[in-house]
Amino acid sequence: MTTRPIIILPDPKLKLVSDPVTRVDDDARALMDDMLETMYHAPGIGLAAIQVGIPTRIVVVDVTRDEDNKEPLCLVNPEIIWLSEETAIYEEGCLSIPEYYEEVERPAQCKVSYLDRKGEACEIHCDGLLSTCIQHEIDHLNGVLFIDHLSRLKRDRVIRRFTKAQKQESNA
Ligand code: ZN
Repeated sequence: MTTRPIIILPDPKLKLVSDPVTRVDDDARALMDDMLETMYHAPGIGLAAIQVGIPTRIVVVDVTRDEDNKEPLCLVNPEIIWLSEETAIYEEGCLSIPEYYEEVERPAQCKVSYLDRKGEACEIHCDGLLSTCIQHEIDHLNGVLFIDHLSRLKRDRVIRRFTKAQKQESNA
């Protein structure tokens, strides 16, 4: 297991729509392990493969934030099959948009189908932070960031800030 570098806004790869996984094999599992390692190391509660530069439909999450009782969840080809009408607001952040947090309103609950590490078809019913986190990660697979749920003014402002920071870094 190794940690991999996380790509940062405004990396254009973050806008890619990721491809479905055709076979959950050892390569896919090795990627999941690296993604978990990268996520825990960051630290974060969710990571999509595109955030380590790989446009494939794999997501890892663990919302426990408990070093001693980890509950990692690996979702391959996750698909939202139901969203509640009731909504919830969480302050979201993203490892690809470091140190920026903003409240986002999303459906409070969701039901997601996916393949697990063994390639078996599963379903999970999520609420609370897990529901928000999984919706945020599935957005990544479709090239959508949490800032895309904000007002255009807020979104443009954060994109500008990160674009400027990137320019300064490449000039340094
Ligand atoms: Zn994110």
